[in-house]
Amino acid sequence: MNQKAGDTIRREDRIGYGIGGIMAKKIKKVAVLTSGGDAPGMNAAIRAVVRAALSSGLEVDGIRRGYMGLIEEDIIEMNAMSVTDIVQRGGTILYTSRCPEIKEKKGLKRAVSVCKQHNIDGLITIGGDGTFRGAQDLSELGLNTIGIPGTIDLDIACTEYTIGFDTACNTAMEATDKVRDTSASHERCSIIEVMGRTAGHIALWCGISNGSEYVMVPERPEANDEKKIIEKILSKRRVGKKHHIILKTEGMGDSYKMAKRIEEATGIETRATIIGHIQRGGNPTCKDRVYASAMGARAVDLLLEGKTNRVVAYRHGKYTDYDIGEALAMTKDVDPILYSLTKRLSR
Ligand code: ADP
Repeated sequence: MNQKAGDTIRREDRIGYGIGGIMAKKIKKVAVLTSGGDAPGMNAAIRAVVRAALSSGLEVDGIRRGYMGLIEEDIIEMNAMSVTDIVQRGGTILYTSRCPEIKEKKGLKRAVSVCKQHNIDGLITIGGDGTFRGAQDLSELGLNTIGIPGTIDLDIACTEYTIGFDTACNTAMEATDKVRDTSASHERCSIIEVMGRTAGHIALWCGISNGSEYVMVPERPEANDEKKIIEKILSKRRVGKKHHIILKTEGMGDSYKMAKRIEEATGIETRATIIGHIQRGGNPTCKDRVYASAMGARAVDLLLEGKTNRVVAYRHGKYTDYDIGEALAMTKDVDPILYSLTKRLSR
């Protein structure tokens, strides 16, 4: 039942055959939800969906708490004023959740029937890969769905931009600057642990922007060689460096234990700082507000064009879209040029 790229109009949605070919059923109402991990800029995307839809003559519903709210019918009507004063705010006014029920047939059927009851013709889901899997399953049951990439981790392969990454990097960078000041005063070594799940993009960007000596990303397991890290710290100390920063992605071992081992091996006081959830919050950067706005409006346009099962992306300098199945099958590496730069610039 999986639809192919470009195969966007289901037979039951075709209402007539015009001179130019098949006409899609006219979309009258769209709904928007946020799902999975929250990310700064999601509100800007919600605002864009609502305002773009209204400006195209559509009605808009907001679904609260992601797929959970869809199943539980936690649905609110949105108007232009529902999204006033949110473009600059972190988090998501629609709340988010993780909803295992949507992975089951029963939950999916319930979600589709709720959409039917509320006359929702198209569903825009803002989230990560998991959220898109849910959207794909719903699309297979006949609901028109569009995904918008919202995750601070940048771990969606089809796009070079995801909502929240820029803000999260700036937050982690500023936090690392602060740790660096105290680390330099005490001539310490600092391990800074940043978020990223299984992707090292935040560590990589912070590693370069913070001038760190070592960047540990899961895409390059060989970088987790503590012996090499210790040798590097000692060699830099010998040439007069007074403090050291190691940028480490979460999930690559216990940072506190690593700090202890490095301190024992080098004799240099070493501390670990886990930046944690502050990376998810805060006012989105200008870039996150603008890109999220463009993607929100684009998602509405895709529904208006009769498309379904697509994910909005930014690639090669352009906004574009991909079939969700194709997008989920793509794989992503850390930028090899940036990664080699971390080594070249920390000699
Ligand atoms: P993200 O969307 O940020 O990747 P999750 O992986 O937690 O976050 O997924 C968010 C939600 O998407 C889940 O709680 C669930 O409702 C839905 N989801 C995740 N994986 C699947 C799947 N394999 N099939 C259907 N829905 C899924």
